[in-house]
Amino acid sequence: MIEASCHCGAVRIEVPSAPEAVTSCNCSICRRTGALLAYYAPKDVRVIPQSGATDIYMWGDREIEFHRCKVCGNFTHWSPVDKSLDRMGVNARLMAPQVLAAARVRRFDGADTWTFIDA
Ligand SMILES: [Zn+2]
Repeated sequence: MIEASCHCGAVRIEVPSAPEAVTSCNCSICRRTGALLAYYAPKDVRVIPQSGATDIYMWGDREIEFHRCKVCGNFTHWSPVDKSLDRMGVNARLMAPQVLAAARVRRFDGADTWTFIDA
């Protein structure tokens, strides 16, 4: 089990394994947050507390919830509004530095082509 935590500790996230790769995305929000994303199936991710500790930001087609800690403002994770979808993103910047350092960084062109640039 790998744990991620926001700066103030109000939001903790448990995932089953360290990410082998994390994604650096250049879309309009990721390039601003500076997040490195690790993807998991929502059923494998425990957000603690489950609700109430984050504010949700959505825009455009409003298909994805971007969660940030209500106290320290760290971007913690995104999850699909459609809960039948099997993928969510955890901000691996909130994991221990050595966990993040062991992961390969993949660059994703979320701004334009929706493909990995260095896949
Ligand atoms: Zn916090």
